[in-house]
Amino acid sequence: MPELPEVEIVKQSLKSAIKYKKLSKVIVKNRNLRFKIPINFERSLKNKVILNISRISKYIIIEFKSNLYCVFHLGMSGTIHLVKKKFDKITNLSFYQYKQVPKKHNHLKFVFPNFNIIYNDPRRFGFFKLFRNYKDLNLYFKKIGPEPFSKEFNSNYLFKKIQNKKKNIKNILLDQSIIAGLGNIYVNEILFYSKINPKKEGSQISKNEIKKIIKYSNIVLKLAIEYGGSSIRDFQNTEGVNGSFQKEFKIYGRKGETCSRNNCKGIITKFFQTNRSTFMCEICQK
Ligand SMILES: [Zn+2]
Repeated sequence: MPELPEVEIVKQSLKSAIKYKKLSKVIVKNRNLRFKIPINFERSLKNKVILNISRISKYIIIEFKSNLYCVFHLGMSGTIHLVKKKFDKITNLSFYQYKQVPKKHNHLKFVFPNFNIIYNDPRRFGFFKLFRNYKDLNLYFKKIGPEPFSKEFNSNYLFKKIQNKKKNIKNILLDQSIIAGLGNIYVNEILFYSKINPKKEGSQISKNEIKKIIKYSNIVLKLAIEYGGSSIRDFQNTEGVNGSFQKEFKIYGRKGETCSRNNCKGIITKFFQTNRSTFMCEICQK
């Protein structure tokens, strides 16, 4: 599933490719996504100029001239491909999964004069929505908590949100109304760096631990974005090299391995919390 760093990379890549460009037209090949692509989608976007591309949580917002906004979400398996010419080898703007445009499940094509943007989604959990004014757009994002990089996400805020919670800290951090865009992989990583047991209740988290969560949320996500960005740039030159950010994970996917922290001999265990896999070192995560 695309996580916040990937979505941020997609946003940055899209921004450099399509900001201030005029979209010639949209071709819908298959309307069936999590929500059906609106019937007026193609007509509304034809010949529209793009003013900006931004991100809230894991949603990307394309702002068009005259107060028109296209919001999209990559769901479980959505990928965005930039195809400049027919034989482009590396088209994926994210840093996991297939690098080329797949043959099946290409739902949408955004046609620009010199290139196409293709949306692919085999599992169809992604979606596209249109908003015709800023007020409706804002309303849509009302329930989403602050961004991990924002000033609003500070120790006072997090303390207020978790001090009375019986819920475990991992599920609290996955709650989008508390913090926007943290997914399973990165919450696993952040709790490992912060030396916190993912099963610990919100009310048992100390102020010092809260500070660590905030610090490492920033470090882990920034690292992922930098790494992902550089791995995409590498794709342009070294075709056939896989995105390798997965190798940087300290805890996620490392069941049975020895803990990577200096002087810790713990073995990483795996279990499930609300159907999502948790990895932890029982020795150093208290
Ligand atoms: Zn350990």
